[in-house]
Amino acid sequence: MKVTEHIKNAKSTLFSIEILPPLKGKSIQSIYDSIDPLMEFKPCFIDVTYHREEYVYKKRDGGYLEKVSIRKRPGTVGICAALMNKYKIDAVPHIICGGFTVEETENALIDLQFLGIDNVLALRGDSIKTEPAFVPEPGGHQYAIDLVGQIGRMNRGMYLHEDMQDVAPTNFCVGVAGYPEKHFEAPNMFSDIKMLKAKVDAGADYIVTQMFFDNEKFFAFEKTCRDNGINVPIIPGLKILTGKKQITALAKVFHIDIPQPFYEELEKCKDDKAIKQAGINWCIQQSKELMKAKVPCIHYYTMGASEATRAVALGVF
Ligand code: FAD
Repeated sequence: MKVTEHIKNAKSTLFSIEILPPLKGKSIQSIYDSIDPLMEFKPCFIDVTYHREEYVYKKRDGGYLEKVSIRKRPGTVGICAALMNKYKIDAVPHIICGGFTVEETENALIDLQFLGIDNVLALRGDSIKTEPAFVPEPGGHQYAIDLVGQIGRMNRGMYLHEDMQDVAPTNFCVGVAGYPEKHFEAPNMFSDIKMLKAKVDAGADYIVTQMFFDNEKFFAFEKTCRDNGINVPIIPGLKILTGKKQITALAKVFHIDIPQPFYEELEKCKDDKAIKQAGINWCIQQSKELMKAKVPCIHYYTMGASEATRAVALGVF
């Protein structure tokens, strides 16, 4: 079922989660073990992230360095199929521009359609670590909006090869990313919202936000979106802070703020156990306020913290 249908049919705020594929070589059991404790809260859909290749240099005989491409977390599509089969739940694969030509994107979407996947989250993807800025694949998309456009055309039965006949249109519900604290590359919030509106006008059906720890930022973002004619559902994304390192790492990697009152709470914690509990408490408080504001769904970035996500869900749903 489409994410938008789940939202339309819901009588109260829905619960959804996002997981990462395990590191290459790990079994899918690790995914099941992280999801099983959350199933009693009936997630309406599970997002599975996509991780593109990284380049590493390997020392070879003779002392020369070979540049090798590796994908540490493959398996997005396989995991989606496995989740749908095992839990009878809607899985939402993330699909990115980076590393794909438009032809490869089309073929990937055909695979998803054949698997009975109804939703995709369409993203640009970040630059790979060895590149200072995002570089599209030759013949690939530069921005998420271009990917949204391609999916929209496939939903209207328009594939890349115009001479095809009797084609079956796809029927994807398309989600896109939104940033309550602005995407780090955008010169200002105004331009970022303008680009977000363009993604919606190009066919995006719903928005999932980047994680945030300050609800006021979400409410302000939501209002700006509505004031600018963005009328699709906006799903807030929350992450539970579970360790000391994350206090600086999350801000650095995701370009988000840790609000002062939360930071002060964290400063008082003696160890990671206390930080995790403070993170859970903060997330419960955020979730309750968001629910009170009648958000359609709260999307939890589990990032391996299944136990903490369960503690939050127990306190909220
Ligand atoms: P875009 O919407 O293309 O925007 C990128 C930047 O370009 C923004 O600053 C925007 O303002 C600007 N822009 C957009 N269109 C134009 C235009 N036409 N002209 C000029 N400027 C423009 N990354 C992964 O690799 N895998 C994942 O699974 C993944 N999942 C994510 C899930 C969520 C909910 C979120 C919020 C992010 C996720 N990311 C993931 C990270 C995401 O790929 C990065 O944040 C990336 O830098 C931007 O992606 P986007 O889709 O928002 O890009």
